[in-house]
Amino acid sequence: MWHNVAYLVDDEHRLRAYRALERRVGLDPKAIAAASNEDLLSIAKLGGPIADKRVQKLKACAELALALGGGDLGQLLSEPTAKARRQLERFPSIGAIGAEQILLFCDAWPVLALEAHGLRVLLRLGYGVESDDYASAYRSAQRAAASEMAEQCTGLQRAYMLLRLHGLNVCKRSAPHCGECAIASMCPSAGKVVEIAAAPATALAATTAKPAAKPARKNSATKPARAKAK
Ligand code: SF4
Repeated sequence: MWHNVAYLVDDEHRLRAYRALERRVGLDPKAIAAASNEDLLSIAKLGGPIADKRVQKLKACAELALALGGGDLGQLLSEPTAKARRQLERFPSIGAIGAEQILLFCDAWPVLALEAHGLRVLLRLGYGVESDDYASAYRSAQRAAASEMAEQCTGLQRAYMLLRLHGLNVCKRSAPHCGECAIASMCPSAGKVVEIAAAPATALAATTAKPAAKPARKNSATKPARAKAK
């Protein structure tokens, strides 16, 4: 529901839409499945564009949750990871990457999950290979960084959040603040990223089953050598 209640908005607006859903309808899949499209539309509009399509997705999520576990998806966590992941991937806008995020934050799978901002930071730091194909860049950075990351969910959750916050606040998509960056001395891209074309603005865009192609980088540094320090 968190993924589908909003689109292309910041965290504040996403939370506002999510809280409205919680308050006006409830988060129980039965309640969402039974809610009127009008009620869901008024909530989805709080969460950005294509609200009508997201109403359909909210309904589809609720109905799938009911079909899979009677509305309680907690039982998925006791399944083998591969099975739980396949089931989660069936939900609209989740896909393989979103399923990883959910399982990581449910303490069910110690995997280095990333969203768009964290991925950008890792690539600029020299982990992985940039690609026009988002999934390819994601897997590449994930593989390159995994051996230096914590092995427990708690540490990987912290890495996810720190990378995301760094990408949101310092290593911005366009004009990163390299002069204020605490890790500039170990970053091969420091001072070299000039401009990046428009791209998906939220983590949601990075967690869809078929994410948008990674934007072209203009006047950027050439692929940097991988940073040595952690
Ligand atoms: S030095 Fe610049 S490009 Fe490198 S991580 Fe920091 S903000 Fe990003």
